[in-house]
Amino acid sequence: MLFSETRPSTMTTLPKLALYNTLTRSKDIFEPADPARVTMYVCGPTVYNFAHIGNARPAVVFDVLARLLRRLYPNVVYARNITDIEDKIIAAAKEQGVPISAVTEKYADIYRKDMGTLGVLLPDLEPKATDAIDDMVSMMERLIASGHAYAAEGHVLFHVASYAAYGALSRRDMDDMIAGARVEVAPYKKDPADFVLWKPSTPEQPGWESPWGRGRPGWHIECSAMIEKHLGETIDIHAGGIDLQFPHHENEIAQSTCAHGGKLFSRFWLHNGFVNIEKEKMSKSIGNVLLVHDLIKEAPGEAIRLALLNGHYRQPLDWTAEGLAQARRMLDRLYGALRTLGDVEAAASDAVPEAFMEAMLDDLNTPKALAVLFDLARQANTATDAGEKARLKAALLGAGGLIGLLQQDPEAWFAGGGIAPHIDADEIESLIAARNAARKAKDFKEADRIRDELAGRGIQIEDGPQGTQWRVAQMGPVAS
Ligand SMILES: [Zn+2]
Repeated sequence: MLFSETRPSTMTTLPKLALYNTLTRSKDIFEPADPARVTMYVCGPTVYNFAHIGNARPAVVFDVLARLLRRLYPNVVYARNITDIEDKIIAAAKEQGVPISAVTEKYADIYRKDMGTLGVLLPDLEPKATDAIDDMVSMMERLIASGHAYAAEGHVLFHVASYAAYGALSRRDMDDMIAGARVEVAPYKKDPADFVLWKPSTPEQPGWESPWGRGRPGWHIECSAMIEKHLGETIDIHAGGIDLQFPHHENEIAQSTCAHGGKLFSRFWLHNGFVNIEKEKMSKSIGNVLLVHDLIKEAPGEAIRLALLNGHYRQPLDWTAEGLAQARRMLDRLYGALRTLGDVEAAASDAVPEAFMEAMLDDLNTPKALAVLFDLARQANTATDAGEKARLKAALLGAGGLIGLLQQDPEAWFAGGGIAPHIDADEIESLIAARNAARKAKDFKEADRIRDELAGRGIQIEDGPQGTQWRVAQMGPVAS
């Protein structure tokens, strides 16, 4: 049920869903090819270690898109794959002395649980690459038969020059692409730009029998084959992180289009922006890789989710400790409003305010949608009329549900690791300065009083060589 705050619902029509399509570089109206079966594919994790916050962004963003599509269409098939054969997996298994399935099953399970903590629902389909080897072989045979691929020394390679539209998604010229893909010049390649579809395995490496000998697939062919197998030749939406645009998505397009006689592969391509950490690129060498598995021990998953949705998905996101603290305070405010409506019965469980829906339909404008949520919370805090309260509660829950927020009991939020409300960093700093001044003046009674006041507000202070540090004490077990 949709309604307007200011206009009767009968007078309003919502705009159509508009999504920024990387393929056209414009915000296009989204109409599925078949409204009775909307298909979406998102490149999933390569499961050999823990997901970092950059990996979590597409999982959360496209979970929001899947929720929105499900509200608009009766049947959405959302597939997010598991890449469970890849050289990094083989290396990890070898190092641990276990079969690759021991590594992949463990980390796929951790991935599902960690993303679940961030409110990411399971996709409708979660195909594994190793279950689609036959489909990959079949696709490679067709590509070879049509002259788009060739076999050489146990490898199968895609011949990039055979596909004139190569580069259309990333809009790079061939020299850029060769440099960007860090292509290997290998004696079995006709052309340096050609990429591997299949490669030979040594006896100790995992492998499958194929017309080209025992081997294993390259990464790109996995997605093309799984999409063909589970969703069809043309899908509505293909999505993933911006880092996958080239070469991965470009190669998927080349393989699928050529295997399907030139048929359009995906009608829409969506890419989320990078995640930086405190203004720096996340990298192992800097040592600032932030794992979701660690982060959820320190902060509620819902706050991490909100911090990821607090910026527009296409923009780069600067992940900061302050941004996460802010997300906790935002949830304190929203759950605070729901708490004031505690004994009010919501008017309708699936009500989504029109202004919220409009923001979401405009290329998933979550910052604007969140502003609508805060407006509702403000109204809830001052509402006196029973009908108005019932309407506001329904609106908060309905809108929150659409982006995967506000679905727990407000008391559980406040008991489960929500930051203490109304923490103002400047105020804390000035209290600490006043305490230090009191100590300097040997007014220990006043210094202790300030320390107790801070403790009462959930602030722990520590005196050290760098001066006085403060942090918000954990309020209780982290909700998950
Ligand atoms: Zn992919």
